[in-house]
Amino acid sequence: MANTKHILITGAGPGGLCAAMLLAHRGFKVTVFDKNAEVGGRNRGIHMQGFTFDVGPTFLLMKGVLDEMFQLCGRRSEDYLKFLPLSPMYRLLYDDKAVSVYSDPINMRAELQRVFPEGVNGYDRFLVNERKRFNRLYSCITRDYSSLSSFLSMDLIKALPWLAYPKSVFANLGQYFNEEKMRLAFCFQSKYLGMSPWDCPALFTMLSYLEHDYGIYHVAGGLNRIAQAMAKVVEECGGEIRLNTQVKSVIVENGQAKGVTLADGEQIFGDEVVINADFAYAMSQLIEPGVLKKYNTEGLAKREYSCSTFMLYLGLDKLYDLPHHTIAFARDYRSNIENIFKNKKLSNDFSFYVHNASISDPSLAPEGKSALYVLVPMPNNGSGVDWDAHCQEARERTLDTLAERLGLNDLREHIVCEKIITPKTWETEENIYQGATFSLSHKLSQMLYWRPHNRFEELDNCYLVGGGTHPGSGLPTIYESARISSNLISKKHRVQFQELKHSTWLKKAGV
Ligand SMILES: Cc1cc2nc3c(=O)[nH]c(=O)nc-3n(C[C@H](O)[C@H](O)[C@H](O)COP(=O)(O)OP(=O)(O)OC[C@H]3O[C@@H](n4cnc5c(N)ncnc54)[C@H](O)[C@@H]3O)c2cc1C
Repeated sequence: MANTKHILITGAGPGGLCAAMLLAHRGFKVTVFDKNAEVGGRNRGIHMQGFTFDVGPTFLLMKGVLDEMFQLCGRRSEDYLKFLPLSPMYRLLYDDKAVSVYSDPINMRAELQRVFPEGVNGYDRFLVNERKRFNRLYSCITRDYSSLSSFLSMDLIKALPWLAYPKSVFANLGQYFNEEKMRLAFCFQSKYLGMSPWDCPALFTMLSYLEHDYGIYHVAGGLNRIAQAMAKVVEECGGEIRLNTQVKSVIVENGQAKGVTLADGEQIFGDEVVINADFAYAMSQLIEPGVLKKYNTEGLAKREYSCSTFMLYLGLDKLYDLPHHTIAFARDYRSNIENIFKNKKLSNDFSFYVHNASISDPSLAPEGKSALYVLVPMPNNGSGVDWDAHCQEARERTLDTLAERLGLNDLREHIVCEKIITPKTWETEENIYQGATFSLSHKLSQMLYWRPHNRFEELDNCYLVGGGTHPGSGLPTIYESARISSNLISKKHRVQFQELKHSTWLKKAGV
């Protein structure tokens, strides 16, 4: 049903685009503003001399959620994107061994038998129990918690024991695996949320569970193609995306968001304002001082934030035979984690992740060449590290470590182009508060009802989407935030919409 309500969305990241396509499909007039020249935010592409890199996301988890978002717009994701399931999913590199990780149990059991034989039994129990936990919790996690009454529901009360509070992911894995190295293979995923596995709430054991039970995907052309596909749907549904258009501030009158002022001074008024730009950045930079009480400067400073990352994108004139995803653990993993999260200082011995997607997707690099993406978790800018002074040193150390740990001794000779993003660049160029790339930390006191609400609690006519609101960071949960906010807006304006109950992709417990 067409309607004339105008929705203004600040940010064409995954959250903003997903909300835009859902709302445009429902007949709302939608305008999306993004300061960048390309859609996608942290999910956009970097294009240099024939090489393509994803800025951020490289693992597509829970493809079923993405499929649902297209389905809700009357479309099939397959008609826009080519999905490539990865097998093995990734290679883990310890100081003394390497493990290939598979989402099919036959290969996985065989690999465990080879490297961690005592873990096979635990792995089988992990799959059965964690599927139960996930199935029990998923609908609770993806509900709206914008009001206390929706939070204090019987559903959530019944699901509480499955949170295993106050256990951490690392502790929760103790019921399946004794050996620390084995547990690391199932808890390093806490880093996807920018958290330490020793602090990350046990419910996030679901991240490794989801990889193992549902697999992970690459998208031909890179995951940035998802953002482009969503933008295409927005435009097909009549929405408008204004690129190179920076929002300077949100217009607020009597506690109500009324519109946005652009950097060039243009004012645009609408019925609802949706914020997709990083939450704490938006609150501190886009809302006039004095308007917010809970999330004012002091309130934001009191919150806990995720870690940051140091990124190296290398275009290389040589084909490197590395797996699609390699995750290398610091020799002393725990000290590295403590340096990132507690001591907030740089480590000599650090964990890192290398994405060599051109090995399975030749479209990402010219023939015979490689596009390598290297991610090193770093403290966020609460560390006070001077990145102008440390950038080159971090680059050299990273290249040395790639030589030492992966045998890539000749990388420097083959670099034809490169780009670096430091925690400082995340903050100054990508508008991310403290350079905390995975947003507010996902500790339980900043989750569910305690995360900034989808219907923003401090301003009327204002909704949040993206990693900084409920349910949290990561593509599937960000799409869920867009679904929650879009549904709230649709209900407010009495616009009917289709609902799906996750039934299309959820595997049954006990199988
Ligand atoms: C290095 C890295 C790796 C990641 N890997 C994965 C992964 O493998 N899998 C996964 O599921 N998730 C991953 N994530 C997490 C998450 O999925 C992405 O960060 C995701 O892009 C966040 O989406 P978002 O919608 O919250 O925000 P963003 O992608 O940051 O989008 C916000 C948008 O707002 C725009 N904006 C900001 N300020 C303004 C302004 N004033 N005016 C106009 N526009 C503005 C920005 O330009 C941007 O386009 C990763 C994140 C990072 C940083």
